[in-house]
Amino acid sequence: MIPLFQRFPRLAEALPYVALGSLPTPVESWTRLGAEVDCGALYVKRDDLSGATYGGNKVRKLEFLLGAARACQASAVLTFGAAGSNHALATAIYARELGLPAISMLVPQENAQSVRRNLLRGFASGARLHHFLGRKWVARGTMEEVVTLRRELGRRPYIIPAGGSAPLGVAGFVNAALELADQIAGGELPLPDCLYVASGTMGTCVGLLIGLQLANLATKIVAVRVTSPPFTSMARARRLYGRTVGLLRKADPDFPRLAFPASQFELRDEFLGPGYGRYTEASAAAVERVKDTEGGYLEGTYTGKAMACLWADGEARRLEGRVVLFWNTYNSRSLDRAIASVAYSQLPEAFHRYFLEPVQPLDRSGQAAGGG
Ligand SMILES: *Cc1c(COP(=O)(O)O)cnc(C)c1O
Repeated sequence: MIPLFQRFPRLAEALPYVALGSLPTPVESWTRLGAEVDCGALYVKRDDLSGATYGGNKVRKLEFLLGAARACQASAVLTFGAAGSNHALATAIYARELGLPAISMLVPQENAQSVRRNLLRGFASGARLHHFLGRKWVARGTMEEVVTLRRELGRRPYIIPAGGSAPLGVAGFVNAALELADQIAGGELPLPDCLYVASGTMGTCVGLLIGLQLANLATKIVAVRVTSPPFTSMARARRLYGRTVGLLRKADPDFPRLAFPASQFELRDEFLGPGYGRYTEASAAAVERVKDTEGGYLEGTYTGKAMACLWADGEARRLEGRVVLFWNTYNSRSLDRAIASVAYSQLPEAFHRYFLEPVQPLDRSGQAAGGG
């Protein structure tokens, strides 16, 4: 049983849940990189291994969200993201494992190798992929899809917001922090002074913040912005925190009435660069450094920026003597086999440009498709 349900048995009855992942994910010591950034000790939480077919941070959210889709007997699952969205891909892969059709409503993204791979993998998983040029078109396309699905399958689809950061999905990261607390109690790592994590739609960092508080751990969260407002902002963090605690208290009145601990949460803005999905010199360098020193597999949109922040803080001597935890939110399972039999020409035509146009200059990831 997952740690959240062990602590609050009533949540196990009240919340929808389906086990998808390989949990707990391991904690690893990165001693070489730790020496380079001159901290007391550097650990990594290997959420890149959170699932056997596809890892990364979305798996933990989907255990609850797809649990809900199944519980309400939805006809399909419909979600949103940028063209290379890891969330839309994770949803497509795990919905299929549960026998649910998946629909991805995607918007343009700066081109990258990872965008191409994710599009091919999403198509290979049988997801229906749509490309829209802006929000207005997404809204109309969604209404049309809902009507179509009702006609074809007789029931409504379950709709998941971008990034899976609905309060129910955030519960997956409340659980993740309790999982970490168990690993600390079991001696796998000392109590971290700080935890670096990328913030896209904030479900990951906010869920971790709630879980740390529940476990009475004083670890400070350093949330590294990789999106612009409203996707990442302090106002959104507080709102998502309040809504998630509200959901959990409604499901189990014994769940404590937690208040947002502002001193335990730092939002960092300096590493976004020109915008979401646009690599920076610092993020590209961080990706290469992690590969060279530890053989770790990061990318420039999320984890590279979070690691760039950690690196800069090390250079500024802010980490001396401190125990630092890096939360690896990116999938490291190889997609090669699954996409080998797919050609981009099979995708809807709107996506062909990602394969015909060059990737952004700072994308040096080559053809590498992950270790693990
Ligand atoms: C989605 C994603 C994030 C951001 O998680 P949020 O919960 O949306 O803040 C970070 N890293 C990777 C690799 C992701 O795919």
